[in-house]
Amino acid sequence: MTAPIYKRVLLKLSGEALMGGRDYGLDNGTVRAIAEDIKGVVALGVEVCVVVGGGNIFRGVAGASSGMERAQADSMGMLATVMNALAMQSALERIDVPTRVQSAIPMSSVCEPFIRRRAERHMEKGRVVVFAAGSGNPFFTTDTAAALRAAEMRCDALFKGTQVDGVYSADPRKNPNAERYTTLTYLDMLARDLAVMDAAAISLARENKLPIIVFNIHEPGAFTAVMQGEGRFTTVV
Ligand code: UDP
Repeated sequence: MTAPIYKRVLLKLSGEALMGGRDYGLDNGTVRAIAEDIKGVVALGVEVCVVVGGGNIFRGVAGASSGMERAQADSMGMLATVMNALAMQSALERIDVPTRVQSAIPMSSVCEPFIRRRAERHMEKGRVVVFAAGSGNPFFTTDTAAALRAAEMRCDALFKGTQVDGVYSADPRKNPNAERYTTLTYLDMLARDLAVMDAAAISLARENKLPIIVFNIHEPGAFTAVMQGEGRFTTVV
């Protein structure tokens, strides 16, 4: 077994990643497959935490465009991420991966509140910590929350699971000539407006010298392979 390249990482999963082939909500098979991949990484001895998005259920901007106050709509978006976090916890626990959910919006009868030191202790004990409710603040995204939590938890890298195996010059699903980058700088990402993470998240990662690894979350075992330096991915440094 090849040694892992990082000791402690944060995995960002968008709501879309949990949707599989569906138009809305969660696809059980997809959530299960991702849980298996996380289990593989935990088995390498890597400490793993996860930030889940909520776009498969509700996005604040969509609510605001239909006339709702943005801050209110964002609260709904953050609650959507809690549902995804609970689904991910169930899938992980079903395959015997001890998991804790911590929410940035306290809801003590459902999960723990976000407490950085406690989250760190869970990870030291080999538990996967799933961070829910983003940053707890409206007008932010779960990408930014992922960069924030990764910095707070002193992670070695932020893994962004996407639909393709890295960052391309154009959408490879639409443009066959799109070129895949092996390495990029944070400034390249910002300057070329590559739609992988939002600018606030990239800036936060840059300030904290946090590498971003972009890989295909739907390729079975890709998270584990990339953790061993294998397979296809893009590193942003
Ligand atoms: N959200 C928020 N603050 C945060 C993170 C998320 O208000 O710190 C809300 C926002 O409305 C967002 C929704 O939660 O649209 C779902 O998160 P996101 O769109 O980032 O999910 P993803 O695209 O990763 O599925």
